[in-house]
Amino acid sequence: NRTVGVLAVQGDVREHVRMLDGLGVRAVTVRRTSELDACDGLVIPGGESTTMAKLARTFDLFEPIRHRLKEGMPAFGTCAGMIMLADRIEDGTADQETLGGLDITVRRNAFGRQVDSFEGDLAFSGLDAPVHAIFIRAPWVEAVSDRVEVLARVDGGEAAGRIVAVRQGSLMATSFHPEVGGDPRVHRLFVDLVSEAE
Ligand code: GLN
Repeated sequence: NRTVGVLAVQGDVREHVRMLDGLGVRAVTVRRTSELDACDGLVIPGGESTTMAKLARTFDLFEPIRHRLKEGMPAFGTCAGMIMLADRIEDGTADQETLGGLDITVRRNAFGRQVDSFEGDLAFSGLDAPVHAIFIRAPWVEAVSDRVEVLARVDGGEAAGRIVAVRQGSLMATSFHPEVGGDPRVHRLFVDLVSEAE
């Protein structure tokens, strides 16, 4: 049975733990390297990416996580977690660091003030019925390299066509929050990636 950690320095940790528990994996919170060492995969939650990056430094987790990602540890980031996994940020704060790993450029708070938070149904690659997606001051993916598979795009409205879910090898990220609400299917896709990894 696989152990999946949730980075627990800031953000909606509990929602992810609950979702993973429901899928029958061992879900643990990660605040120290010994906890990271026990993980076969890592979830990086939604929250505030600038704060999360700073706290990951403070907790001495930043480089150890980077190291594990380079070694191929599967990871799944939602919203702020997507920003953490992106190689490049637009509209980040001047000194904002990311863990990186996904060869994408994300734009923070991309949907603008008027549509700060919203919900919608999205077709999601690998799932046969649409996902109900909740966006909260969400980023979108501005650009992807050809190593990145697009899993979902915004369906309608001004932001139609914007990329909001991606995968590259065993790394996955969504602009929205599949941990909120009761639909475990996106997390199951990640758990499958963790099971397939060595
Ligand atoms: N706007 C936040 C950030 O830049 C992300 C918001 C979220 O995770 N819901 O980190």
